[in-house]
Amino acid sequence: MVALKPFLETSVEYLKGVGPVRAEALRTELQIETFGDLLTHFPFRYVDRSKMYRIADIHDENTFIQLRARVIKTKLIGSPRSQRMVVSVEDESGQIDLVWFQGVKWMADKFANGQEWIIFGKPQLFNGQWNIPHPEVEPPEKEPLPISSIIQPIYSSTEKLKSKGLDYKGIGKLVKTLLLHEKFGIAENLTPGILERLRLMGRADAFLNIHFPRSPELLEKAQVRLKFEELFFIQLRLLKQRINRLQKNEGHVFATVGAYLNDFYHKYLTFELTVAQKKVIREIRADMGSGKQMNRLLQGDVGSGKTMVALMCMLIALDNKYQACMMAPTEILANQHFGNISRMLAGLDVEVRLLTGSTKQAERKEIIQLLETEQQTILIGTHALIEENVQFRNLGLVVIDEQHRFGVAQRAALWEKNQKTPHVLVMTATPIPRTLAMTLYGDLDSSVIDELPPGRKPIITKHVYDRDHYKVYNFLKQKIHQGSQVYIVYPLIEESETLDLKNLTEGYQTVVKEFPPPGFKAGMIHGRMKQQQKDAEMKRFLEKETQILVSTTVIEVGVDVPEASVMVIENADRFGLSQLHQLRGRVGRGSSQSYCILMTPGELGNDARTRITTMLRTNDGFEIAETDLRLRGPGDLQGTQQSGILNLRVADIIKDEKILKFARNIASDILNEDPGLRLEKNAILAKHIVHIDERQQNWGLIS
Ligand code: ADP
Ligand code: MG
Repeated sequence: MVALKPFLETSVEYLKGVGPVRAEALRTELQIETFGDLLTHFPFRYVDRSKMYRIADIHDENTFIQLRARVIKTKLIGSPRSQRMVVSVEDESGQIDLVWFQGVKWMADKFANGQEWIIFGKPQLFNGQWNIPHPEVEPPEKEPLPISSIIQPIYSSTEKLKSKGLDYKGIGKLVKTLLLHEKFGIAENLTPGILERLRLMGRADAFLNIHFPRSPELLEKAQVRLKFEELFFIQLRLLKQRINRLQKNEGHVFATVGAYLNDFYHKYLTFELTVAQKKVIREIRADMGSGKQMNRLLQGDVGSGKTMVALMCMLIALDNKYQACMMAPTEILANQHFGNISRMLAGLDVEVRLLTGSTKQAERKEIIQLLETEQQTILIGTHALIEENVQFRNLGLVVIDEQHRFGVAQRAALWEKNQKTPHVLVMTATPIPRTLAMTLYGDLDSSVIDELPPGRKPIITKHVYDRDHYKVYNFLKQKIHQGSQVYIVYPLIEESETLDLKNLTEGYQTVVKEFPPPGFKAGMIHGRMKQQQKDAEMKRFLEKETQILVSTTVIEVGVDVPEASVMVIENADRFGLSQLHQLRGRVGRGSSQSYCILMTPGELGNDARTRITTMLRTNDGFEIAETDLRLRGPGDLQGTQQSGILNLRVADIIKDEKILKFARNIASDILNEDPGLRLEKNAILAKHIVHIDERQQNWGLIS
């Protein structure tokens, strides 16, 4: 078995049938460089070759089908240099053309009229007619198909690879060559205990059956086995990272709750905390008192009171003679946090400071000095907080708001500011579906605020077609007369920023025409404006100088305008579900009834309809996140792309939720018993983890 690893790491060039040209194409087109890469280039689907299609039933470009049909005529078309051969075939239901652009001469004599063939390929629509380019053809078997070729694997390929003879068949052939190679072998990487507990197929068997299944049942077992393996090792590594972190990173011990928190709680907190807020504060306090460094994700819908929780945790830090900071993704948001927190802490003797890109040099200097001397400081800001020259004397807690906008590197940079890593609380208002959280943030602890403060009126959400725009305008006028403020949001429609701006500007002009001054006042805000302009426009809206704010999604994150009670989203069909929900969260912050109006032009596509109906049905961020994940797949969710964690080869985080849970539970059981994976029986797992680490550096650097 010693020779095994080098074997799978052999360059694919040396496989029989590859050579330098194809190797280069495999590398650039499919990132297949080694035997191992080829082995894990799994079929993306399978075709049951025991099933025959009827020609009349063809209706889809994207599926492989198999026909049994007779040749009626054969034609050569075009000049000898660009010749194609068209073979018309028929079955009892209809006719279709088979077309070859290559190998024409060699094929020309193959098809006699009246002869029957089994035809296998992917139909395409050309000039309104179905045809099948370059199908695979075989004479009908007298005998039934041998069992091993009933399920045909289909591999992804590209035009370039096809031009080098590597279509799905060509690739399948290479895989077969590899599997039959005399030195080929695959070592098991799961323990007998796991294999027995879940009755999993052995690894070597699974690789054989995922490429060339001997039966549908064996294919399924092979897939389950490989999916489990994939998810299991992700979980094992995440949970182990967590254990390592806890062992390695001693945490500041926040042992007491002192005057700051008590004063605030008793004298200045004007409302009762929700049960969920209390629970979360308990969880965080336990972490911060444990002597281990906290690394916790706090999820809660917009307006659920996360910031309040964060504030109280920062006060605990201060009570223990530490500093705390809070980092927001935008300047507007940092300003707002600063405003709110300063106001709430006005009666307490706490130094609260704001540091952003627009902080003046003199003030910046003063803040930096303050951080080096004054212990009980709360610093709020943007990325500016993690600039090199900002040094904390004694940073105990870092709160990161709306984390998905921050990269991993930025989070790491913050940590290095102290000898002892501060506690970290990451807050997000974009709920992450559980399965995704388990994978993406599997090494973080997680808290959820799952209720809104009492007395909030649920936002009324309506869907209106563009032809009824005037009704919406009338409604808005009525609401504005009653003292409400209104957001009107436009989507990014074109790839080009200029065109988007044009779209927004036109929208703004329509709004101004419909809502003329001096009775009405509208403002506009978009991503290309300078920060100062944006802030000024936002301020006008906050101070009720304008009643209507026309904007792009720049308002999506965070700013709180209590009197804004109507959100109109134009072309709502163009927004993602989570984004719609985030936008809706901008209203419903005051005491009056709030509305969210989703405008769309005519007919809706299926996905758009699902998004709109989901918005109409529920206000629950978690339910919305789950639906969003189903609609879009994990790759499109914010923050998942960069992590690389979700480059799963066989498993599917949505469909394989059950396997994922098994994988996590088993990984957790194993590590509970053997945190360092030092027991002899777990050696095989430890070894495989090292192997993955070697191959995928920077993998899973989520914290
Ligand atoms: P989030 O950060 O989760 O969006 P915030 O902490 O900003 O939510 O809270 C939203 C609003 O609700 C704020 O005005 C805040 O003062 C208020 N709030 C927070 N917790 C409560 C509570 N338990 N009861 C009443 N109001 C609350
Ligand atoms: Mg918030």
